Amino acid sequence: MILSTKNQGISESLTLSIDAKAKKMLSEGHDVIGFGAGEPDFPTPDFIIQAAKDALDQGLTKYTPSSGTLKLRQAICRKLERDNNIVYTPDEIIVSNGAKHSLFNIFQALLNPGDEVIIPQPYWLSYPEMVKMADGVSVFVNTREDNYFKITAESLKKAITPRTKALVLNNPSNPNGSVYTREELEEIAQAAVDYGFFIISDEIYEELVYDGMQHISIASLDERVKNITLTVNGMSKAYSMTGWRIGYTAGPKEIIKVMGNIQSHSTSNPNSIAQYASAVALEAPKDCISGMVREFDKRRKYMADRINSIPLLSCRLPKGAFYIMMNISQTFGKRYGDKQLDGSLSFADALLDSQKVTVVPGIAFGADNYVRLSYAVSMETIQKGLDRIENFIKELI
Ligand code: PMP
Ligand code: GLU
Repeated sequence: MILSTKNQGISESLTLSIDAKAKKMLSEGHDVIGFGAGEPDFPTPDFIIQAAKDALDQGLTKYTPSSGTLKLRQAICRKLERDNNIVYTPDEIIVSNGAKHSLFNIFQALLNPGDEVIIPQPYWLSYPEMVKMADGVSVFVNTREDNYFKITAESLKKAITPRTKALVLNNPSNPNGSVYTREELEEIAQAAVDYGFFIISDEIYEELVYDGMQHISIASLDERVKNITLTVNGMSKAYSMTGWRIGYTAGPKEIIKVMGNIQSHSTSNPNSIAQYASAVALEAPKDCISGMVREFDKRRKYMADRINSIPLLSCRLPKGAFYIMMNISQTFGKRYGDKQLDGSLSFADALLDSQKVTVVPGIAFGADNYVRLSYAVSMETIQKGLDRIENFIKELI
């Protein structure tokens, strides 16, 4: 049996599989602490759930326009103008089945075989796989921990070739927690304008910024930047709606149209009930978000302090999202029992086996000196999990 050679080269999403493993172990009664989860632990706010019930009562249970209802696309336009200072019309918006699907459609719409996509490293693990699925080539640009894993315009320029088609900018970033300033964005945007490639701006963690940082949408810088940018966002992280599967893209009409055609033959419209509830969510005051952000902020500080107090481990205090990249490189060469630690996979394996704590090995993000911990879990879980990590480190020989 011969399967598609291209698609056999696509790996499973390790973030999803680690999360699934932790959830399964928990349901089987194991005392596991899951730091793998990339999803808020809060329930979806009540008024959004109520809106979904209203949609059902109103019989909104049929196909909608494939690219999303006008009502939701209008609500997204208002949100982008109000929060992000970018003006779009509904025909410049497409709603998809989660931001992951938005990104998939973008790569399908933009890339020809061999087109290069610049991806800052460490990167969210789905980008290179999506580029591969669209016959593109990922070009990784290394970043430095002491620059909070942010690319600079200088390092970006070195990676540009005549085949460069796009840059993926994840701001705030998963897994790094970095947030770009206006000045940094201006320099990056200028390079994209000068060399003529697209910017795919993944802003799914927009609402989760700390220490007074302000999230800036790169498309808001000026009209030239807006014309080459696809802004991606969604309901999953800001509204704790991971299971509802609503994401969206704003960008030039011609690209949105191609994405819409692809979507019309692959998935049709995103769920009608979730679309209705998302429009209600986007039009409402954002109090429900600020409560979550305050809680994430407390956990972030606690987790970073604890990590930095444990010998052989260290981290930067992230400025956004809900992840910490924990530097584990000083543990390499040590052993836990008969297990030799020589990279993020062996570290994560030994930690799970001995302490029942799941983390995501950094190698999945192109950063083997790190493991990623999510603080989208309760404070109590974080405390317990870090106690276990501390014990693990004490037992290394
Ligand atoms: N981009 C990044 C950086 C993410 O971490 C995620 C998390 N799943 C997504 C996009 C996609 O989110 P969703 O498909 O749930 O909207
Ligand atoms: N984005 C989240 C994470 O990185 C959820 C899992 C996924 O979609 O890959 O953990």
